[in-house]
Order: sequence, then structure tokens, then C-alpha cells
Amino acid sequence: MIVLVINSGSSSLKYQVFDMQKEALLAKGLVERIGLNGSILTHRPTGKDQVVIETEIPNHDRAIQLTVEALTHEDHGVVSSLSEINAVGHRVVHGGDRFSDSVVINEKSLAEICALFEVAPLHNPPAVMGIEACSHMLPGVSQAAVFDTAFHQTLPNYAYNYALPYELAQKYSLRRYGFHGTSHKYVAERAATMAGRPLEDLKIITCHLGNGASITAVDGGRSVDTSMGFTPLEGLIMGTRVGDMDPAAVPFLMEKEGLTTGQLNDLLNKKSGVLGVSGVSSDFRDLEEGAAKGDERCRLALDMFAYRVKKYIGAYAAVMNGVDVIVFTAGLGENSASMRRSICGGLGYLGVQLDEEKNKGRGEADVSAAGATCRVMVVPTDEELMIARDTYRLLK
Ligand code: AMP
Repeated sequence: MIVLVINSGSSSLKYQVFDMQKEALLAKGLVERIGLNGSILTHRPTGKDQVVIETEIPNHDRAIQLTVEALTHEDHGVVSSLSEINAVGHRVVHGGDRFSDSVVINEKSLAEICALFEVAPLHNPPAVMGIEACSHMLPGVSQAAVFDTAFHQTLPNYAYNYALPYELAQKYSLRRYGFHGTSHKYVAERAATMAGRPLEDLKIITCHLGNGASITAVDGGRSVDTSMGFTPLEGLIMGTRVGDMDPAAVPFLMEKEGLTTGQLNDLLNKKSGVLGVSGVSSDFRDLEEGAAKGDERCRLALDMFAYRVKKYIGAYAAVMNGVDVIVFTAGLGENSASMRRSICGGLGYLGVQLDEEKNKGRGEADVSAAGATCRVMVVPTDEELMIARDTYRLLK
């Protein structure tokens, strides 16, 4: 079965194609600047040269049409005809409290995804544009939606509720949802395989540390707490997001600086985090370089980031009454040995001990010292494969 995975943003669209018999990646690609000047499609068929197509791409229908053309092209294509694509899996950020698992897309589920626009005004509308474009350009091909929030629907009520007046929270569905669920689930499953133990027996803390960052307590395979909340703004310090902060600082800042809600949202989501603290960059490579040259604010941003992750690890070990495995994933978690060292330093009381040499390596690995009772693992995330797996499970 051939599955096309689509991750649709407002002006971009990423795709990957898998042959699910072998879980082989056949091709991936990216359409950028949809509806803007300079639209471009970059197509990367596995084992062949990449192809760049620069043409007008006014909307998502055209983006999908070009994607399908690239996939079926006689030189750089990976399937001989459109009819070989059996199913499409879509990444949908917000499933609210309606979806605790992936779902086949039909009229009813699509209407429910649209009903969530109110809580996910930035994320769900572009996903629906991708779904509708596939309905137009791949008529008759079944589609599934895979939600970033679904894995966290197992949080107990005392973990997902905010201590607001109960009726008000209910009225607006204002609660912790959590995000990056597909990634947390994938790396937790992979870590259990690497540990050679059933997922059901393990207490795992998964640290997804990329430009967006979140951390999850996975007890026996179920998410029991996670750091992102009603929106992806809460929790860890991120590239440009502030993370946890006293909510009273919000009206204070609005009043002092005369900010509108839009400007404030912008400040907290796009100008804060390690970018805001360092004044240099949201890219951790730049911060590590700056800190090495003696830039104090780069050092401060890195120290604040590591400290916040460490604090959450302690909290989640408390929540689960222990921790067997800590997993690092995403751009920073997978690639920065020094960040992993900073976070894991002083966690000896949990049984954490890094092997310095293994920690400097690349790719999937157990980087803990022999005999450490809490394993530390690096697991490259693969959200697209997870989406393809769920799509296959629902539509095979
Ligand atoms: P992601 O959102 O998962 O793509 O991760 C992006 C983040 O990972 C960026 O802030 C990058 O700076 C960071 N990153 C990627 N590679 C490295 C590296 N070798 N060292 C430090 N940070 C890295």
C-alpha cells in the first residue's frame, strides 16, 4: 500500500510517500510560498537527484496537483500512475477533546476538525485546505487525519484542567491539550524497543527539543502529563516562545507598552524564548557559538533553557514515581551533545549518568553509562512515518 503523507501549512506544504509493505520512504518534498511570489516545489525522490520546480502556485489545489505530477513523472516520479496512491494521511495539529486517536476523514470528522478552528485558528485551517485539495486532486482516494493532540488525551483530569472558574473553562474548552503527540508517541515506542522491554512496563520522559519544544511523561505507553497547554506557548522555553510565565505579566505588559492582544501574542510567540533572551538568534547553533565566544546573553539563554527542561524532568519523575528512560529528540535534542550534558548534569539521584563518548555520537543511540539505572536515549523523531502507519492501520 502506498501512502502519501501531507503536512499542510498556510503557505507551505510538506509531503512524504511511503511504501508501507516495507515502510520504505519513496520520496519527500516541500512546496513553499503558496499564494506568494516566488513559489517553488522541491522534490526529493529516494536515490535520485532532487528536482526544483519554480512556477506559480496560487493555492493548495495547485500545490497538490504539482506534487502528484512530480510523484508520477516518468523521470523523477516514484509511482507509475495516480491510481497507485492508495491513501493520504494528514497532519492536523488540533483534535481538541474530540479526537483521542487518528480518524478516517469523512463529512462528519471533517466538520468536527473545522469546528476546532476556534481553538486552533492558525493551525487547523491550513490542514483543511490540504484535505480539500486532496479531495479535488485525488478523487476517490481515502484520507485520514492524525492529530498532534490525540496522544495526550489520556491525561488525567487533575493534570489537564486549569484552576480557572470551572464553568468558564468548560464554556471555552479552556484546558491543557498538549502538542507534538505524534513525535512523543513515536520516540517512546522506539525507546522501548531499544531498551528491549515492553512499553507497558516503562516510565519514560520524552523531550522534544526543537524550535518548538515540549516534554511528556509517558507512563506505561500513555501520556500522563505534558508541558504544552491550551496552545503550544506553555511549558519549556522555545526558539521564540516564552513558555511558562506568571500570567499577571500579560496585562502588566499590555498596559505599560500599550499593546493590543495581537501585538502581545506576537511578542510572546515570536519575539521571546531564547531569541528574546539572547537578542541574537532562535537557532541554538548560533547561541552555542555565541556562548563559546563569551556572549553572556547567549550563555544565559542556554542556561535558562536547560534549567527549565531539568525542572520538568524532576516534576515528571515525581508524577510517575520514577523514570526508566529519558529520550531526547528533534533538532536540538538529537544534535546537541552539550545541551544533553547540561540537562542531564545533576540528575544522578534519578540514576542518570551519561557516557561522554557515546553522547558525542550521531543518530539513534543509548548514551547512558553502563550500569546507569535510568537510560538516556537519543531517538531521531519521524512524525511522517507515524502518520503513514496510522493511515495504513485505518485504511489498509
Ligand atoms: P526542529 O524544530 O526539530 O527542526 O529543530 C530546530 C532547532 O534545532 C534549531 O533551533 C536548531 O538550532 C537546532 N539544531 C539543529 N542542529 C543542531 C546542532 N547540531 N546543534 C545545536 N542545535 C541544533
